[in-house]
Amino acid sequence: MSILKIARMGHPVLNQRARELTQAEIRSPETQRLIQDMIETLRDIRGAGLAAPQVHRSVRLAIIELEDHPLQVFINPTIEVLDPTLQSFWEGCLSVPGLRGKVARPRKVRVRYRDETGAAKEWIAEDYLATVFQHEFDHLDGVLYVQRIQDLKDLAYEEEFERHRLPHAQEGVLED
Ligand code: ZN
Repeated sequence: MSILKIARMGHPVLNQRARELTQAEIRSPETQRLIQDMIETLRDIRGAGLAAPQVHRSVRLAIIELEDHPLQVFINPTIEVLDPTLQSFWEGCLSVPGLRGKVARPRKVRVRYRDETGAAKEWIAEDYLATVFQHEFDHLDGVLYVQRIQDLKDLAYEEEFERHRLPHAQEGVLED
């Protein structure tokens, strides 16, 4: 296994729509190795989620792992909003290091996807997890969270965010 280099904002791979993987590709040694490398990379940088375009691979694959949420591999996911009520979190992104921005997203979604074996799965994500997933899903469509910030006053350097905004924040913080 190896730790992969992270693409940063400005690299074109982060702006393009990633392609789907076929069932044969999902089971291929190349994809299985990519999944293992992404897991190792995510754990090394202590992120919450990682999408393949962030490691320069333009395919529809993302992983999520949190302290209270076991590792989950999403391949070719589709998303359906179950509750459009917006919730705001201060998001961060490994591809946009050093910054945080407040983004409002629907609070509950249904996700249909293939797991790492190619099996069809369904998952309903609420609250914080719904935001984490939508952030990763956006990467597969070439969208960074900064493009979803409604008011650019809600974009801050991490240090200033922690000093000035966090003490008053009504919203949660997404460690990604
Ligand atoms: Zn991200």
